[in-house]
Amino acid sequence: MANKRDYYEILEISKDASDSEIKKSFRSLARKYHPDKNPDNPEAENKFKEIQEAYAILSEPNEKSKYDRYGHNRPGGSPFGPGGFQGVNINIDDLFGGGIESIFGQIFGNSRPNRNNRGGDLLIRHIVPFTAIIDGYDDELEIESLSACLKCNGLGSKNPDGTKSCPSCNGRGRVQRVERVGPFAQQVVSDCPSCNGIGVIVTNPCNSCNGEGRYNQSKKIKFTVPPGISSGNRIKIAGQGEAARGKNGIAGNLYIEIEIEEHPWFERDDADILMALPVNYSDLLLGTVIEIEHIDGKNLKIKVPPLSKPGDTISIHSRGLPSMRSSRGRGSVTVLLKLDIPKKISKSLKKQLINLRENITNQSLTLEDSIIDEANKRRGN
Ligand SMILES: [Zn+2]
Ligand SMILES: [Zn+2]
Repeated sequence: MANKRDYYEILEISKDASDSEIKKSFRSLARKYHPDKNPDNPEAENKFKEIQEAYAILSEPNEKSKYDRYGHNRPGGSPFGPGGFQGVNINIDDLFGGGIESIFGQIFGNSRPNRNNRGGDLLIRHIVPFTAIIDGYDDELEIESLSACLKCNGLGSKNPDGTKSCPSCNGRGRVQRVERVGPFAQQVVSDCPSCNGIGVIVTNPCNSCNGEGRYNQSKKIKFTVPPGISSGNRIKIAGQGEAARGKNGIAGNLYIEIEIEEHPWFERDDADILMALPVNYSDLLLGTVIEIEHIDGKNLKIKVPPLSKPGDTISIHSRGLPSMRSSRGRGSVTVLLKLDIPKKISKSLKKQLINLRENITNQSLTLEDSIIDEANKRRGN
């Protein structure tokens, strides 16, 4: 280690170089010594690796400050583990565009303990009545999920001294191994197999949870369904997913995926709702007002104007659903008029209809003209 060169010297920068100066110098040197540009040149290969190592340390604030303080003789040995720095696989393209941050970022990703120790996310589906879209409401659910052990408080151990820092990974929870990819040695970081990535080993496991610190428990979840919600929307409840293993983890999130119950007659188009209304021939011709119960609690008054035709629509503003996307108020109700033909007719009604037939036909037009008139309307002429 005595003949190891100074990282600043390797990157040809001064000790007070800024982050961007460090990066700039690394990029230019790495481009110069990249193996693609120097095939079969062991000297360039060594230089390339040396530059990478210097950059790996100096680009990570925590590692940089340790290096500034102790140089190459820092306590605890090499920050890259017993094998020292193994080099990373960098495409020459990465040295021109972005991308080196993510490559170097993962080298010391393990320096934060328990980074990976997070409980799983949960997804549950929940049916909401159609009428609840108007005002939203507070709801409650009972779910079963992995929760912190009540006996050991999630520690996993019978007593507070029954855990120790994992010796295989020094409590980091992650270990590095080296993989060869072509001419490169690549550092791969993965969960420590001895402690399953937690960084802690339980020496005196709790009986209730077998040292896991968690087990399946049912719990009540309170949440608010907001107005205007749609099927497929997810309500996120942070920290109510599965508990992490061990004491220092972060619980996962709970996602409640909403399914809106089908309404007996309304179809929904975001904030607008659509219904079909069967109306008899006389009502279409003479016009009428029909009143029905509505989802907002007030009756919906549908005014069918005289001389309406089947297929006509009536729009009633601001009686639809609230919109989650904007504050433009409620959407509208669209009523599609349908001709209601009775399934059968009585003898007396039949008689009256025969009498009516003559009078009801459009007498101002010949049969042919009325067919043409209809065709023109259909074609939009
Ligand atoms: Zn470990
Ligand atoms: Zn326990």
